[in-house]
Amino acid sequence: MEFFDGKTALVAGGAGFIGQHLCRALLNAGARVHVVDNFSTGTGHVPDGVTVDRQDVSIIRDFRAADVIFNLASPASPIHYQADPIQTWKTNVLGAMHLLEHAMACKATLVQASTSEVYGDPLAHPQVETDWGNVNPIGPRACYDESKRAAESLLMDAVRTQNADIRIARIFNTYGPGMEIEDGRAVPNFMAQAKAGQVMTVHGDGTQTRSFCYVDDTVQGLMRLGAIDAARGEVFNIGNPNEISVAELADQINQACGNKSRVEFTQRPIDDPTRRCPNIAKAKQLLGWEPTIGLADGLGRTLGSGPIDPKVSDLFHLA
Ligand code: NAD
Ligand code: UDP
Repeated sequence: MEFFDGKTALVAGGAGFIGQHLCRALLNAGARVHVVDNFSTGTGHVPDGVTVDRQDVSIIRDFRAADVIFNLASPASPIHYQADPIQTWKTNVLGAMHLLEHAMACKATLVQASTSEVYGDPLAHPQVETDWGNVNPIGPRACYDESKRAAESLLMDAVRTQNADIRIARIFNTYGPGMEIEDGRAVPNFMAQAKAGQVMTVHGDGTQTRSFCYVDDTVQGLMRLGAIDAARGEVFNIGNPNEISVAELADQINQACGNKSRVEFTQRPIDDPTRRCPNIAKAKQLLGWEPTIGLADGLGRTLGSGPIDPKVSDLFHLA
């Protein structure tokens, strides 16, 4: 994307799953890339050519200067964000505040990675940016959902009162090479289980739905948010509207791995959303963005990608 040529980008959370792909795409687009990450989750594989500061965004306020800031710093998997919920709050609220202050100080654009979780267990379907969401504020997922909502609220106040240049991406379930095997999310769990011929753990009856977006598409969406003026002060769903039940996802991954596994239906986590599908009309219209990689293709690219780190996984690898 020509816009980034010669620009400096700061990627908070750049050592994580989406962050690594974003860093690589920014480098390819000609940007200088700095990462700030505390390496609490994610593989820590940042591409060569990226400067890395090992810092916690909820603590530090002194970041490297940048033209564009992407705030991806946050645990994203339920097992990670629930492991230390207070730290999740600090990361998402204080981290967003610190990066906002920094963006204001260096007159940078701030792209905030929010989440489809702001819709909670959605009342309307598919989800549109104008929906207010249906979140349990005191449940075990609230540390993530509500802190991401608080960050959105904070940043939109900064748009209204300080004319801050903020763009918010509500990212829907993203998958691809570079996910950690122990990440706990459906795609890496099912792939690890299916490759090993182990029982596949489908939560509940598997009829709950998600819409899975290949990571390259998500990264393109984030970059367009950073590059296109029409995104300023706006919130966008970034996801693939191809909705699938979790049981179907397990079946598709099992087939792709030679159908060696059987499915076991296990307990559904508390407050696990029943359905999730983005309406992406706004992103199509204002950003000219829509996903290009279908699920079968994306799962194949993820499965066929070889080892990333022998310590962690023999499943996924960044090309
Ligand atoms: P990830 O866990 O792989 O990466 C997050 C990165 O943030 C990690 O490298 C981690 O070490 C870092 N981090 C966490 N707390 C930090 C802190 N206090 N200070 C500095 N760094 C910190 O997650 P991901 O899947 O790459 O998600 C990236 C972003 O996208 C997150 O903000 C997440 O909420 C959002 N998101 C992701 C998805 C998805 O499906 N992957 C969906 C919706 C939203
Ligand atoms: N899930 C599952 N088995 C697993 C991991 C997840 O059935 O081993 C379910 C989970 O309960 C949810 C869906 O798959 O209904 C997506 O879960 P994930 O953690 O990937 O994303 P999120 O819950 O954040 O949408």
